[in-house]
Formats: sequence, structure tokens, C-alpha cells
Amino acid sequence: AIQLTGVTKSFGDNEVLRGISLAVNPGDVVCLIGPSGSGKSTLLRCVNLLETPNSGEIVVNGTVVTDPEVDIDGFRRRVGLVFQHFNLFPHLTVLENCVVSQVKVLKRSRAEAVEVAERNLARVGLSDKAAARPAALSGGQQQRVAIARALSMDPELMLFDEPTSALDPETVGDVLAVMRELADAGMTMLVVTHEMGFAREVADRVVFMDGGVVVEEGPAAQVITAPQNPRTQEFLSRVL
Ligand code: ATP
Ligand code: MG
Repeated sequence: AIQLTGVTKSFGDNEVLRGISLAVNPGDVVCLIGPSGSGKSTLLRCVNLLETPNSGEIVVNGTVVTDPEVDIDGFRRRVGLVFQHFNLFPHLTVLENCVVSQVKVLKRSRAEAVEVAERNLARVGLSDKAAARPAALSGGQQQRVAIARALSMDPELMLFDEPTSALDPETVGDVLAVMRELADAGMTMLVVTHEMGFAREVADRVVFMDGGVVVEEGPAAQVITAPQNPRTQEFLSRVL
């Protein structure tokens, strides 16, 4: 579970998050939508402590992440992160990309790490690419490797920041299908996305942010199909 209470974040005098409160319950998928610059990535980065909030509290599965005493590396290891740009290691094979952190960070034996990596590559439908280099794969395949790599660390929850927005349209569907399966398997997920079809069909709740505040939130069917706030209505009329 993820719980944010009154989270603020400024860069200089630019107040990007102005008191965000939201919750992601265990096993739920929450999609975060909103215009460019509204603070979505900053919020996600705060959850993973890539940014430090100025005030407010973030609790992830019982760990008060905003406590200055928190073990940042230990905590980050429990959270899977998938970005727009997948940042695979170009000189390593697909399999090795999924193995290295398991061995380095989790101290798994190589044999165990390979087994876990193979299982997760199968899960994203890429068993046949294990020996390939990332450059030989399509963008969508590379993003699925990035998901398999994150899953190989046995994360307690997954954060996605526009995982399909840099992809060719024809590969988007495969990535969304993998995310949908993860959701069905009960993974707790916070997903920044512009894919309104995915949000409507997969999300338990949708949160619309604008100007650093949560403007509207609720069940996907309500927020996307029947938004109440004029700013949500205006945003959706542009993206749908
Ligand atoms: P997009 O949909 O374009 O990805 P976003 O909702 O993710 O937008 P953020 O990336 O969170 O928006 O950015 C919100 C604001 O914070 C922007 O004005 C941005 O310039 C500013 N910002 C983000 N990161 C930093 C940083 N490290 N230093 C200074 N300003 C930043
Ligand atoms: Mg962003």
C-alpha cells in the first residue's frame, strides 16, 4: 500500500506538489493522469525517494519513507520502477540485464538469478530473446525486458511513469497487455499514463492532477467517463 498525506515539493520557488494526499491499497492499480508539468513524475519520484518532499508524509507498506532515518537503498529495492526510457544495459544480453541486480543487490546465486530471470522473461513473452542484445529488440520488447528486470527483484509494488509514451503505436499494446496481467495477478501499481483505455479498463481508481494538486479522483468509470470537475472535463476532451 502507498499512502501520501499532504506531500509538497518545490524546486526553487516553483511549487510543483502543493499538498498531495492519495492512497493505493494493496493489490490495487491507480492511474495518475494530468497535463504536462502537473507534477506526476515528481510525485512518483517522491514515492521512490528519487526526490525528497519538502513536507508531508509518505508511507509504503508500513515504512515511513519520509522519515529521515529511513534506509533508502533497502527501501528502493522493494519498489519496481519502469520509466518511459527503459535504460537497459546495452552491452549485456536481455537475460543478463535481468540477472545482474539480483546477484549484486539481492546476493542471489547466479543459478537462482538466471532461473528467476527466465521465469520473468517468460512472463512478458520474451523467452526467445534471452540471448539478444537490447538494440536488436523493438521499443516495446525492450520495455517488456525492463518490466521483467524489475519483476526479477521481487518488488512489493510497481511504479510506472508513462511506460508506453515513447513507443511505436504497434508495440504499445503488448506492453499494456503485460501490465494488465500484472494487475490481474494482484500487483500493487501506481501508473502515470496517457492511455485512457488502459486506465478505464484496468485501474481501480483514477487520480487527475493539475497544478500540483489532486483535482478529482475516484473509480475509473466515474473519473474518465463522467468527470465532475471542469478541469478534468477539459483535460479529457483533449486526450480522449
Ligand atoms: P509530463 O506529463 O510532461 O511528464 P509531469 O506531470 O510529469 O509532466 P513533472 O515532470 O513532475 O511533470 O514536472 C513538474 C514541474 O516540476 C515542471 O515545471 C518541471 O519543470 C519541474 N521540475 C521537475 N523536476 C525538476 C527538477 N529536478 N528541477 C527543477 N524543476 C523540476
Ligand atoms: Mg512526467
